[in-house]
Amino acid sequence: MTTSGDTQNPKDAPKAGLKSAEDALSELKAHQAVVSDLSQAQAVLSWDENVYLPAGAAAARGQQLATLSKVIHERATDPRIGEWLELLESSNAADTKADTDTKADTDTDKTALLRETRRGFDHATKLPGEFVETFTRARSAAQSAWVGARAASDFSQFAPHLEKMVELNLRHADFLGFELHPYDALHDLYEPGSSTDKVRAVFAELRDATVPLVRDIAERGRDVSDAPVRQTFPEAEQEAFGVRMAAAFGYDFEHGRLDRTVHPFATSFSKYDVRITTRYEPGFLNPALFGTLHEAGHAMYEQGISSDYDRSVLGQAVSLGIHESQSRLWENLVGRSRGFWRWAYPQLQETFPEQLGGVSQDDFYAAVNKVEPSLIRVEADEVTYNLHVMVRFELELALLEGALKVSELPEAWNAKYKEYLGVVPPNDAEGCLQDIHWSIGMMGYFPTYTLGNIMSVQLFEAAKAAQPTLETDLEQGRFDGLLGWLRENVHEHGSRYQPTELLKRATGSDLDAGPYVAYLNKKFRALYGVEGDGADK
Ligand code: ZN
Repeated sequence: MTTSGDTQNPKDAPKAGLKSAEDALSELKAHQAVVSDLSQAQAVLSWDENVYLPAGAAAARGQQLATLSKVIHERATDPRIGEWLELLESSNAADTKADTDTKADTDTDKTALLRETRRGFDHATKLPGEFVETFTRARSAAQSAWVGARAASDFSQFAPHLEKMVELNLRHADFLGFELHPYDALHDLYEPGSSTDKVRAVFAELRDATVPLVRDIAERGRDVSDAPVRQTFPEAEQEAFGVRMAAAFGYDFEHGRLDRTVHPFATSFSKYDVRITTRYEPGFLNPALFGTLHEAGHAMYEQGISSDYDRSVLGQAVSLGIHESQSRLWENLVGRSRGFWRWAYPQLQETFPEQLGGVSQDDFYAAVNKVEPSLIRVEADEVTYNLHVMVRFELELALLEGALKVSELPEAWNAKYKEYLGVVPPNDAEGCLQDIHWSIGMMGYFPTYTLGNIMSVQLFEAAKAAQPTLETDLEQGRFDGLLGWLRENVHEHGSRYQPTELLKRATGSDLDAGPYVAYLNKKFRALYGVEGDGADK
């Protein structure tokens, strides 16, 4: 293998313990640069698999990806990493003066590098190879069973696999270690520093505010029609408008591109190439439009990470929650705001004169903000979205605690939908079989969607406080002030700060559902003409 970044010279490498801390640090960084290159190459192959792969190439591509995974895992568990870490962690004297940053910055960077390296190395090495193989095989089987079960809307086909996933997630948590709850260990994989108790607390506050808001809207709110966005919109024009908006926000098409896929996503092959995908529905404007703005928000985060962290573990997004805060901020706080549409709506009307020429800006704004309790999470509006997440969080917690049996899941799912959203799925395909996460072994992931929503408002409020003209800027199509603030306070840092510290530095606060609750009440009580803030219900 030719690896330009690998300065390790195995033939004459003494044990790392005999080296200076300075040597250990540069060897560690060189080693990680190669892992970073391999991981990004793997991401290119995955992107291609999702976007362009001819049907007959699936098996060959699967083999290539499996080989790369194996090579990356071998490098990520290289015992030398443990030796380098031990030496560096015990030494405060590593000389990093060669860096051009100030001394304080390089110290912070070094501490962060050791923290992230330790985290990744411990995770990779705490799991026995036998367990990793078992989990991988069980996931493949569970995923294909889930596809079949969903198509047939037959939970019983998936149930034994879900039982296996619960069991394996519990073993996974045991290997990783935890103090209070196995869920802590699993959730921490996606949101470092968060915990089951923290999620429970913010979710309770959000649920208590959201359920009455949804009820008031349903009972007493004025009728809002989404007919304006449910007309025929040709795909080429949808795409052109989405590209124009994403570019206006600051998504850099010189270092990215937009393609089509079935399940939209953003992916990074370094900050210099961050791609987004979307899906067009000719009869519904929202999926591609807001999907593109959402993925552009994810991508701008990756494009904004400091180049100081190229090919480093610090050059990665720090958590899924922070990632989602960026996508939601651009999709909802900007893209679904009245101010944004003051600027954008005339352009959209020009793009679709027949469909929207006679629709007022107020009616269009209402249409893209229609609140309607529904069955499917990914199609949910801003108000009801988090209730979908809470259902999943509470149920996966109960499964892991043994308080809920897998066989009881469909019934429990439907009961929670009735309680929180007032709707009951007519079948399991539209109920507990709708999401892929559990079938690929991901438990502890769902809360990050709602944590992202909560943090998006905290960050947006902090940006507004720092830039008094921010809202009038948005009304005039000027987004560089907001993007600049996000760059400086979130994007640039990559994984330098833990999510909790990043949030605190950017906003002055810890995670707090208060601003999000206030935002939802203000926006949607005004839109639907319902009084109060729900607190007295
Ligand atoms: Zn997202």
